[in-house]
Amino acid sequence: MIGGVSDPSHLLELSSAWQRMLAAIDSALARSLDKSLEGKDISSEEAAVLFDAEGPALNALILVADELRRRTVGDTVTYVINRNINFTNVCIKRCGFCAFSRGYREEEGYSLPIEELVRRAREAWEMGATEVCIQAGLPPKMDGHLYVDVCQAIKQEIPDIHIHGFSPEEVLYGAARSRTSVEDYLGMLKQAGVGSLPGTSAEILDDAVRRVISPGRISTKDWIRVVTTAHRLHIPSSSTIMYGHLENSRHKAEHLALLRDIQKETGGFTEFVPLSFVHWEAPMYKKGLIHDVRPGATGAEVVKMYAVSRLMLNNWIPNIQVSWVKEGPKLAQLCLNAGANDFGGTLINESISTAAGATHGQLMRPRDLRGLIRDVGRTPAQRSTTYDILKRFDAADEPPDFLDSVQPDGDRFGSYQQLTKPA
Ligand code: SF4
Repeated sequence: MIGGVSDPSHLLELSSAWQRMLAAIDSALARSLDKSLEGKDISSEEAAVLFDAEGPALNALILVADELRRRTVGDTVTYVINRNINFTNVCIKRCGFCAFSRGYREEEGYSLPIEELVRRAREAWEMGATEVCIQAGLPPKMDGHLYVDVCQAIKQEIPDIHIHGFSPEEVLYGAARSRTSVEDYLGMLKQAGVGSLPGTSAEILDDAVRRVISPGRISTKDWIRVVTTAHRLHIPSSSTIMYGHLENSRHKAEHLALLRDIQKETGGFTEFVPLSFVHWEAPMYKKGLIHDVRPGATGAEVVKMYAVSRLMLNNWIPNIQVSWVKEGPKLAQLCLNAGANDFGGTLINESISTAAGATHGQLMRPRDLRGLIRDVGRTPAQRSTTYDILKRFDAADEPPDFLDSVQPDGDRFGSYQQLTKPA
């Protein structure tokens, strides 16, 4: 008797179907899966082959990723209660994938004053948030001390909130505008209260791709320099990839291998967050600026990204975060069965993906996050930015969080559309 089924013959049929499926998988690909299950690292060449997996091979890849996830981090799925603050969309750069930025003179440009950033952080803290995530455009002639002032002002009001702020691109800009070294600038940020950096502005860490999709953007070498310097100063960071545009399987595999190498050296990455390209409003897609750019990743590509990431990074970066903003809650939920173990954050405000045409709202209430996690048979837990478990939710009847009483589509917190409405 298996699981209450008195005659398991149909299950046995499934098992022989599984055997046939395994037999149909290309032997090199099967060896990579085997190697992963033995606990070994796969190479970037092997990962590139896995990115092309289809049919039975894709099913096997997903199962292996799920098994590795179970062995390494168990059945808990974490999330953080946080608020995004994208304090200005005015930016000197023109990245082809970015629908968020505006020029200095454009009507839709906005800049929030420091007092408003502090107010938003305080409001989030009072509603149970433990983190503010601060990222923005690069305004022309910016006072190089601005990011430091922002951190000091927030920390003065709310000393215990975690500031997850300033991408490697912003750190480089702040250092340049202050005429100081990256190391000294990071030291100033740390002193002012930065707890960790978002590992964004990575996209694909291959300069040939970067030159096409975002000419003038931080180079691969500088991205690595900023991140490894931060790690050396004990400022951890997340790590990311943005895919589904021009890159191929080799680019994705080499990107993962590069992140893995950095992690072996520094140990400073808290998690890996795959971000699929949101194409609707992105200039390089909408205006046809780049030939052959794809309209984001397909569902299969998204699932594969999580699965291959789990195989490549499992021994080094145990936390793989799914982005419900990019993928929508339903696909994000499925990715939990393909290697992911973290559901990201509540966000409260979201501007960057929203500007690009993502439609999944800007707030995910904690109880909704927990419901999606429970639906796939896993246990939700609230975590800190650095993955300390703050609260486990073993039972379904936990008392509601304050944020659970808020309507996700209401405009109580101010929306991106309100910010960009001409005065
Ligand atoms: S991605 Fe960042 S740096 Fe590039 S245009 Fe947008 S806001 Fe500016």
